[in-house]
Amino acid sequence: MRFSRVLRASAIAAAAGLALAACGSGNEDGGGGSGGDGGGGAESLTIGIKFDQPGLGQKTPDGYEGFDVDVATYIAKELGVEANNIEWVEAPSAERENLIKRGDVDIVVATYSITDERKQEVDFAGPYFIAHQDLLVRADDSSITGPDAMNGKKLCSVTGSTSAQRVKDEYSAQTDLQEYGGYSECISGLESGAVDAITTDDTILAGLAAANEGKFKLVGEGFSDENYGVGLEKGNTELRDDVNAAIQKMFDDGAWADAVETHLGPAGFEVPEPPEITEK
Ligand code: GLU
Repeated sequence: MRFSRVLRASAIAAAAGLALAACGSGNEDGGGGSGGDGGGGAESLTIGIKFDQPGLGQKTPDGYEGFDVDVATYIAKELGVEANNIEWVEAPSAERENLIKRGDVDIVVATYSITDERKQEVDFAGPYFIAHQDLLVRADDSSITGPDAMNGKKLCSVTGSTSAQRVKDEYSAQTDLQEYGGYSECISGLESGAVDAITTDDTILAGLAAANEGKFKLVGEGFSDENYGVGLEKGNTELRDDVNAAIQKMFDDGAWADAVETHLGPAGFEVPEPPEITEK
């Protein structure tokens, strides 16, 4: 198995003085961290996630948690990398393709919808979950009932997201779209009254609502399918195949259902059937 980028990332991290287990975590011939065939897999992995999305990818005082973090950790393990050899990097929506193309990350697991446009620049494995674009409003607001009821209202979304793009493409006449850098900034705006609604995936909105109990509510009008994929370097079919195999194993052994229940259950999600892996 060859994970040149992975090994390069490992070498960079080692040069930066990060504590990395030399010659890796149970891999008999895991390579020396300076390139070439690893044989037993990679030693370390640099993974792009969100840092501000409760239930999905969140940086906490104790580390990183959420459904995407669990999916990423499972994939890493299948690639031969233990959790303590993962380097987590923040992957804001607008930066995901750049992070992959520059080689700053090996994979991105960050509520990252598979789209034809993004596939011009990166490849995806998966999907591993299907979310739906929705709206989040203040709990006492009954005036916003869907994306068509935004006349004169301010709508927050995030630069580089499919959510913002869909509003521009399909609802631009009705809406005053404000694009922020991350969803945590949108939530501050919704709380202060600077914006009237947030639009993005129901997973993200439900997580934000659960983390701010009683303040906000989902409108509940799913108006898209967002197929979450694992983003990776274009053309690296070997890595994509390995990531797909890991995702399929996670579906089959129940770990995926457990992760959905643990992280999305508190936000009101039931465990669905896992999606079919199509990015082959
Ligand atoms: N899933 C959508 C996307 O990939 C919206 C969520 C996000 O910005 O991460 O653009």
